[in-house]
Amino acid sequence: MNDIRDLLKGRNGLDAEVRKAIEDRFGRKGKYALEAIDAGRVKKYLDFVVVEGKTSSYIVEDGFCTCGDFLYRGRACWHLLAAQIALTAGLSVPVDRWYQDMLLEPAQE
Ligand SMILES: [Zn+2]
Repeated sequence: MNDIRDLLKGRNGLDAEVRKAIEDRFGRKGKYALEAIDAGRVKKYLDFVVVEGKTSSYIVEDGFCTCGDFLYRGRACWHLLAAQIALTAGLSVPVDRWYQDMLLEPAQE
């Protein structure tokens, strides 16, 4: 996954060619990652990068993710990929809050 930087180097964001390269290389994970980025679901809080999946949100930090795939099955999940692409391409959504504070608040339904 270290070649994301190379993949994006000299590109104007995520153009069609880069998208194809990402999907070719990472398959379904690449597709999910791009969808999340397009939907603005990779958020950069003051303390953590958070990727919002369909049912839950995960903290991604230093090559670590809080999802089950990563924690229990040791897999490099698509959240890691999404965070890495979004941060490298400057496409994460900045949120001027501490995610830690949000975790302590009761869920807003
Ligand atoms: Zn994950």
